[in-house]
Amino acid sequence: MVLWSYLRAGAFTTLNVILNAATLGKYVWLEGRVGRGVFANWARRFRYTPEEFARPTNEEEIVDLVKRSGSVRVFGSAHSFNAGVVSGGTLVSLDNYSGLIHKDRAAKQITVKGGTRVRDVVELLLEEGWAFRALPSHDAQSIAGILSTDVHGTGRDWGFVSESVTRFKLVDGMGEVHECGPGDDLFRAAVGGIGAVGVISEVTVQGVERFTVEQRVETKDLSFVENNLDRLLAENDHLSLYLFPFTEKCRVNAWNRTSEVRSPLGDLKEFLKTSADALLAAWVGNLLAHSGLLEKFSPLMYGIELGSHLTMESNKAFNRTIYHLHQELEFTIPFEDTFEAVRRFIGLYEEMYPSGLPYTLFEMRFTPEGHDRTLIGAGRDRRCAWIDLVCTDSHGFERYYAAAEELVREIGARPHLGKYCEDFTDTDLAKLHGDTFTKFRSLVETHDPTNKFANEFTRRLFGSSPSPG
Ligand SMILES: Cc1cc2nc3c(=O)[nH]c(=O)nc-3n(C[C@H](O)[C@H](O)[C@H](O)COP(=O)(O)OP(=O)(O)OC[C@H]3O[C@@H](n4cnc5c(N)ncnc54)[C@H](O)[C@@H]3O)c2cc1C
Repeated sequence: MVLWSYLRAGAFTTLNVILNAATLGKYVWLEGRVGRGVFANWARRFRYTPEEFARPTNEEEIVDLVKRSGSVRVFGSAHSFNAGVVSGGTLVSLDNYSGLIHKDRAAKQITVKGGTRVRDVVELLLEEGWAFRALPSHDAQSIAGILSTDVHGTGRDWGFVSESVTRFKLVDGMGEVHECGPGDDLFRAAVGGIGAVGVISEVTVQGVERFTVEQRVETKDLSFVENNLDRLLAENDHLSLYLFPFTEKCRVNAWNRTSEVRSPLGDLKEFLKTSADALLAAWVGNLLAHSGLLEKFSPLMYGIELGSHLTMESNKAFNRTIYHLHQELEFTIPFEDTFEAVRRFIGLYEEMYPSGLPYTLFEMRFTPEGHDRTLIGAGRDRRCAWIDLVCTDSHGFERYYAAAEELVREIGARPHLGKYCEDFTDTDLAKLHGDTFTKFRSLVETHDPTNKFANEFTRRLFGSSPSPG
């Protein structure tokens, strides 16, 4: 069992790297898709045959599907980590509803169809000399999927892709099409609402002038980072941390706008770096973890780590295309609790490690206060530290996550609903989000009165509304 899951994680990661390299970065094998009638999400954890599978090509077809189906779930690139993408009725892919609808050169805005992948939105912006203001760590997702889980990055003044969206269209459970802007409650219910109020069908993105980013990766002592976190965050446009079990070393990743020239062969170097990271995590880190040697080797591995320094086009600097096969359980805590909280999750891992756990790292990102574009997103309102428990998708991760979810609940952290989420319920979300959760529920009842968009996962998280009549 352990050997099989170790080999699986290594083989899937390797195949993804090879296919990506062979197609010059065009093909990412580890994406969600339907093949021969069977749906599989990116990590192949959710695999099933939907009763009906549809790929609408225009808005009328989406409206029609919603009107005639009793139960509908939509997926973008199925890069989420939970059963939100599982449908008991009709499963809809927006892959054939993708591409440009309109460009507004004066306003630097483009309107795209909901299934458009972020990497394609990036290309459409670049054609005009524009870019996203900032991006999260991956660009394979669909723009609508990104909004539906309120995807975040990290930044002193910036945190969420939804902040670069000026409006979108949403097809609700009665088949009505709504135009929503950031000031509308329906917009805020759809952002982070994992499809419960409707299908996001069209999105307008605000671009900025394209720019270059300096990406710097360094290894520091954890105590240094802990004592200087405020200064590090103030000095950098974007900052994230990687913490590891059994070591007091910490990897600091920083991204800053620059007018420096781009690094020669920067994209190639980035590909080699991210591929090496992925392969090492899947084959070496996970071997050490499963063979019980992580405790001994962790201080050594991270003690000698070399950093990197590259200057690239902004989207290349923010994104990693290649990852090892992994799972993520992520949540937010108030910024003030950053280190106290993350130490508890690392401590939990170290305590459970002798019973057999896979290779795991702890990613920390930061978002500013005042995020008001969502009702139930984990980064709502307050200044947040995000703790992401990144476990290799290999034997034992579920046991660690089950214990971690208990701890998440105990400390009152808010879960990211695009990530692993097996245990949380509507009672937890009501407690964590209070009035905004009540407002969200009421919008779900108004816009999906017959629970068409509900599945087992959303019923657990949001509760079931009584269907009329
Ligand atoms: C390697 C990797 C890196 C990641 N990096 C980050 C990161 O940096 N920051 C972060 O916050 N997350 C990150 N994630 C999580 C992921 O980006 C989000 O969960 C995102 O939702 C995935 O977009 P998608 O198009 O794949 O959505 P899917 O996984 O296809 O769908 C997500 C949810 O939204 C619903 N949905 C999809 N499309 C629509 C639509 N058109 N209308 C209404 N509902 C819809 C689905 O039913 C589902 O419940 C990462 C995931 C992976 C695998």
